[in-house]
Amino acid sequence: MAAKSDKKSDKKPAKPAGGKKIPVTLIPGDGIGPEVAAATVTVLDAVGAPFEYEWHVAGVTGLKEAGDPLPKATIESIRRTRLALKGPLATPVGGGFRSSNVRLREEFHLYANLRPARTLMPGGRYEGIDLVLVRENLEGLYVGFEHYIPVGDDPHAVALASGVNTRAGGRRICEFAFEYAVKNNRKKVTLVHKANVLKALTGLFLEAGRDVAKQYEGRVSCDERIIDACAMQLVMNPYQFDVIVTTNLFGDILSDLNAGLVGGLGMAPAGNIGKDAAIFEAVHGSAPDIAGKGVANPLALMLSAAMMLDHVGHQDKARRVRKAIDDVLIKDKVHTGDLGGKANTKQFTQAVVARLN
Ligand code: NAD
Repeated sequence: MAAKSDKKSDKKPAKPAGGKKIPVTLIPGDGIGPEVAAATVTVLDAVGAPFEYEWHVAGVTGLKEAGDPLPKATIESIRRTRLALKGPLATPVGGGFRSSNVRLREEFHLYANLRPARTLMPGGRYEGIDLVLVRENLEGLYVGFEHYIPVGDDPHAVALASGVNTRAGGRRICEFAFEYAVKNNRKKVTLVHKANVLKALTGLFLEAGRDVAKQYEGRVSCDERIIDACAMQLVMNPYQFDVIVTTNLFGDILSDLNAGLVGGLGMAPAGNIGKDAAIFEAVHGSAPDIAGKGVANPLALMLSAAMMLDHVGHQDKARRVRKAIDDVLIKDKVHTGDLGGKANTKQFTQAVVARLN
């Protein structure tokens, strides 16, 4: 749940003076995570990123290697560095341990999930997409307040879930979206909700969003969509959107939809940004079907690392990484299998490094 909105506490890691290293917690993660994390570190080294990595485990790997899907050492490292780059963490479906991703967001109050979707390769379904989704990361149905009610001999006869949204949380995420729009020269923020049916839960979010929008009148325009109509309109005409801000579950679904507009999950980076830390990760999961084969597309984690460079004030290096990736995809035509190409993870990485050099 949201604490009181507190802009002053949205600390960034201190900028290093005179080329000092920036400590960052690096969690390679599960499945293809170690492969794409290694590729991303290679590219960060090639661009001269001033990071000093503290390597830690979490997820299924955390459970196997440290007996905990979110080991204390990992949490303590992020508490120190306030900055992390994270590969995907697998979560068992239905039972097993609680998602380490959700726990990390809660532990560090990472209330904003920033997910840009930009067309990287021409020839897809759409050209020139440049959308940003801001997802509330701590509230809504994701709080996981759920239980079963047994009836007769069926222990799972009824399932109940409660969502929790707060006015403070709604204001905080909408302020984040509007501030992002101002800083990044974006023109419009769309509030996405389901206040026609979930009148209290998402109605409160809408109320908070409308309030925040008033403070930005004349600078950033604002409109509204109901989630189902928004999903359809994103597919029919994505160009009508600029920045979208929405609650947790809707944001989760729409960000995958947006990734689909620009070529799939392999292309989508994300930043979880909050009060106590920022954690950057790809939108995709651990891809167990291709793990260990050396064929994963590392592009999304590389782009997440570029967002991390932006976050610590190295926009020049971030731009170079994005440009190198654009050139590799468009000019060199080096593509991994998910993009219809033949390159493996290493070949793609080497192509990006060659462009950087
Ligand atoms: P997934 O994203 O892992 O895979 C979906 C499909 O996309 C698969 O066919 C996979 O091979 C492909 N794919 C994904 N990333 C790719 C890449 N970089 N290069 C090439 N192909 C790629 O989704 P899933 O199968 O639903 O989830 C698997 C596991 O990942 C689950 O345990 C889930 O909980 C977890 N997960 C973690 C995160 C995270 O840590 N942020 C996000 C989503 C899913």
